[in-house]
Amino acid sequence: MSKTLNECIVPMYPTLQSLDVDTIEAGEHKFWFAVATDAIGHPQTLPVRVFKGRKPGKRIVITAGVHGDEQNGILTAQRLARVLGKQTIMGCITIVPAVNLSGIARHSRDFHSAAPDSSSANLNRLFPGSPEGDDANRYAYSLWENLLKPNADLAIDLHSQTSGSAYPLYAFADYRLDDAIQMARLVCPDVILNDPGDPGILETVYNQAGIPSITVEVGIGRYTDIDMIERATLGIINICKYYKVIDGQVDSNSKPCVEGSHITSVRAEQGGFVICHVSLLEIVEIGQVLASQYNSFGDEIHTYLSPVKGTVISHNVESVRAPGSLVVRLIN
Ligand SMILES: [Zn+2]
Repeated sequence: MSKTLNECIVPMYPTLQSLDVDTIEAGEHKFWFAVATDAIGHPQTLPVRVFKGRKPGKRIVITAGVHGDEQNGILTAQRLARVLGKQTIMGCITIVPAVNLSGIARHSRDFHSAAPDSSSANLNRLFPGSPEGDDANRYAYSLWENLLKPNADLAIDLHSQTSGSAYPLYAFADYRLDDAIQMARLVCPDVILNDPGDPGILETVYNQAGIPSITVEVGIGRYTDIDMIERATLGIINICKYYKVIDGQVDSNSKPCVEGSHITSVRAEQGGFVICHVSLLEIVEIGQVLASQYNSFGDEIHTYLSPVKGTVISHNVESVRAPGSLVVRLIN
């Protein structure tokens, strides 16, 4: 049954400029969060779903779509919300499934600024944002100060590889934080990177604010991967069970998981068409052929060899490679 156009465009949920989940009633809520105005002064509103239990407990915030082309993260957050609707909650789970509105609408990684003197920007290098910066900085600031930081004891930021490349189920965790390691392992991913973080990344900013956080990469960029979405959803459910936000038996990771702390990215030496010869999670030796590159006539112009022994965690799936773009990424 389809809905009338107006119902689809503007579901009549309350619009908030800030949220404090401690002050709302138990139960399931849907809100619009007015994060900023656009360039003509209309509100930009993010969908927010809150699942608040009658009993106190951990407050978990889950975000997705900080990078607009990483749709498997968005679909995981939405799937999770559908699963949580059937659960009894203790504590509170807040889901913000579509953070970067301008990027998502354009199938683009970046936040697209409407300021004549600003370029598009990687929103996940701008947190906690600034109330005095450009539109991207103000957007990040409003989101961080008024929605994410006040409502999180733990946080999970869902991504995928960017367009044109694939990841397995892959978690980033700062191993100095026990809860970050714990959450990453509870996802039951294929790979975990011990990552101390970088300035401006949402996960790093959460950790610095005393809110243990992980980033989870849900497979391939842009294109739908239902199996990966299901695994990521079950992984987050597992985290919720461990922290007793929902009832149930915690699954221990029965399949092997690669944990490493060193990343090697093999990048295109020049432009051209790259065909990859390795698969995700394959272990490669130093000197092993990773990929072949062809010019537009179809002649081979470059062979990429592995500079290290390691496990393949990403490779291109789109053959056209600009100079410097990713061919293969290894972890060891
Ligand atoms: Zn991302």
